Amino acid sequence: MAESTELQASQTIHAGGKWRAAVSGATREIIDPADALPFAVVAEGDEKDTDLAVAAARQAFDEGEWPRTPAAERAALLRRVADLLVRDREKLGRLEARDAGKTVEEGRVDIDCVADAFRYFADLVAAEAPGRVVDAGSPDIHSVVVHEPVGVCAMITPWNYPLLQASWKIAPALAAGNTFVVKPSEITPMTTVALIDLLVEAGLPAGVANIVTGPGHTVGARLSEHPDVDLISFTGGLVSGTKVAQAAAPTVKKVALELGGKNPNVVFADACATEEGFDTVVDQALNAAFIHSGQVCSAGARLIVEESVRDRFVAELARRAGRIRLGRGTEDGVECGPLVSEQQRAKVEMYVESALKEGAVLRCGGKRPEPSPQRPENGYFYEPTVLDHCHREMRVVREEVFGPVLTVETFRTEDEAVALANDTEYGLAGGVWTADPGRARRVAGRLRHGTIWINDFHPYLPQAEWGGFGKSGVGRELGPAGLAEYRETKHVYQNLAPKPVRWFAG
Ligand code: NAD
Repeated sequence: MAESTELQASQTIHAGGKWRAAVSGATREIIDPADALPFAVVAEGDEKDTDLAVAAARQAFDEGEWPRTPAAERAALLRRVADLLVRDREKLGRLEARDAGKTVEEGRVDIDCVADAFRYFADLVAAEAPGRVVDAGSPDIHSVVVHEPVGVCAMITPWNYPLLQASWKIAPALAAGNTFVVKPSEITPMTTVALIDLLVEAGLPAGVANIVTGPGHTVGARLSEHPDVDLISFTGGLVSGTKVAQAAAPTVKKVALELGGKNPNVVFADACATEEGFDTVVDQALNAAFIHSGQVCSAGARLIVEESVRDRFVAELARRAGRIRLGRGTEDGVECGPLVSEQQRAKVEMYVESALKEGAVLRCGGKRPEPSPQRPENGYFYEPTVLDHCHREMRVVREEVFGPVLTVETFRTEDEAVALANDTEYGLAGGVWTADPGRARRVAGRLRHGTIWINDFHPYLPQAEWGGFGKSGVGRELGPAGLAEYRETKHVYQNLAPKPVRWFAG
């Protein structure tokens, strides 16, 4: 981070190449969820700050050089950004860990993935042909389809993977030649603010990259409705995403939504037939549900396990979940951090309480842990929780909890497993565990989710599209489709030998 974010902490709005405070002068304290203490102050922007940032992005798009910069130069800049991210990996990883309640190792992995996204989109755009020539059926016609930047892109991001989610938007938007205004989650803005400094350091012209720190109902809502914004890309919850789409509709801007998930992890008994297989599947089910305390859009929060292995599987899973070491993410040996906020923990507690009332059986967790030297009393910690004997009518099974809560359902047949796994209004991701490759392919083919992992859970590749079926969203990030989101397609038809058409006699 350059000194702008460290010394003048509340100057976190960047518009037209300058850092400044909110027009209103309002600020917000950023809280470390491990001890509930503030560790930074940022500007609390509102509609006025948003208008200034959009105007800067508009001017940079309409009059600036970036949209007309050759693809190879844009790619070179993105690669410089990736190098700067690698240089600042430790600092940014720690900042992300502190802001979002991750372990430092999780923070470092996030930064590696952010750098990968910048490199991927640099390579993709650098390798492209300038246009696709279309055979118009005549040597006198030259017809070509080209791709151009959309214009001013607005981006709204969540708190669980603050910089990673921002990079999945910023990297392709810049690769395609757009200008942008990003609004990070108001509770985890720090690394996105830092990224703007790196973009400037890499040589991005003023006005191309803009950021407004502030709340969703002011900054986010204004970006969504703004007539000078050409595209809005949102990652967050279903309720906010619906509001964004509604606010965007009157201006018919392009809308991309990456929303929540309620992701099944389907375990067939044959995957657990050997001791090694059993150990692997339990370990991965633990990882699927509890990494980053389950605050992951693709968390495998619904374990759907074949009835014959349920008792043994759930007993071992609960035993291991009970041993996960909770604490401040910067402490040695800690495996899981706190939930991101008091509000998020209250939501998790509400879901667990409602599940127990509806008949779920608690196998482990279900409460706040005792404070310890690694776990300050005021931190928003919650124990990894396994709820057995769940069924599809329960709220905890149907709705996204977004916390360390795993529900267990069982099946007897393959059809039943598929029906359960597809019985969700979401459709983001799902896992299938089986020793039978034929069954793996069959089940994967029938699951209505945007990503299917077979005998694995959670990996994603920047070169493969990410996004959801159903209410998990509209559009895709990453992969070639993730670049296409930020482009308009234009057909240029050139007649090299024009003649009258004589459609009209006179
Ligand atoms: P959220 O919807 O509360 O907030 C997301 C962002 O939207 C924030 O920046 C917030 O300020 C803003 N916002 C809120 N109300 C708004 C409004 N009316 N208009 C415009 N913007 C508004 O979500 P969250 O709690 O920050 O994040 C968790 C959610 O994000 C989960 O549902 C999770 O599944 C989802 N998520 C999805 C993906 C994915 O790839 N599909 C990735 C990460 C997170």
